[in-house]
Amino acid sequence: MQLIELPLSVTNCFLIKTPNDKYILVDTGYEWDWKVFCKQLIKFNVGFSEISHLVLTHHHDDHSGLLNNIIEKNSGIQIVMSHLAKDLLTTGVNDRSHGGGLINKRIALLIYSTLAPLKRIKAKKWPMTFPPYAVRKNDILINGETRLSDIGIELNGRIIETPGHSVDSISIIFDDSDCIVGDAAANMLQFAGTKYCVIALNAIDEYYKSWRKIIAENAKRIFPSHGRPFGADKLTDNIGKNKKENMVMYK
Ligand SMILES: [Zn+2]
Repeated sequence: MQLIELPLSVTNCFLIKTPNDKYILVDTGYEWDWKVFCKQLIKFNVGFSEISHLVLTHHHDDHSGLLNNIIEKNSGIQIVMSHLAKDLLTTGVNDRSHGGGLINKRIALLIYSTLAPLKRIKAKKWPMTFPPYAVRKNDILINGETRLSDIGIELNGRIIETPGHSVDSISIIFDDSDCIVGDAAANMLQFAGTKYCVIALNAIDEYYKSWRKIIAENAKRIFPSHGRPFGADKLTDNIGKNKKENMVMYK
């Protein structure tokens, strides 16, 4: 499986070529990533007309920000998402109603005591928003483990549900053991003790349950949305290591 990585401002998107010369795009970026996203497509010589499906790992602002722009370029692209993403996408704001809002303590401190007063981060912008997206008839809602071939994607692999970061998180595990996890794992800000968790979680127990699922599916290489790819052994080694005490509720 050849994964083409498209790094945007903070989100890694992925393109995978299918045997019939189409591309599957995984995720988009923030709404302000449009220009860089287009540049990346040009760099890899991929046109919007060549994209057949867009798999959205979850509804958050840094993943869904460009859905409308992309659909405008090619309305034939089918967006694949968890059935739980449908309503969340219409709100235009990251969901915090499912027992969530936990953020890494050191990162929270950095944001609220250091960066926000310096106005490097507009704290008000942090109730994270994105252009609302209304699911269309030809989009595909996933409910339970689903083979890619069953939803018209000519690749060997399956979509599994991996909640914990958000209720609607899904991952793609290919039969060759590569796994695109969205924010179900991450490889960033290790100094803050993230231990391969993304900095914000809904439910830490659910998150680790999803890791166990990914490990049980025999994943070998993990491709996160944030940070460089890493071996699945890191998940095995770090399971449970990021403690609830390391997380605070974000304001
Ligand atoms: Zn997210």
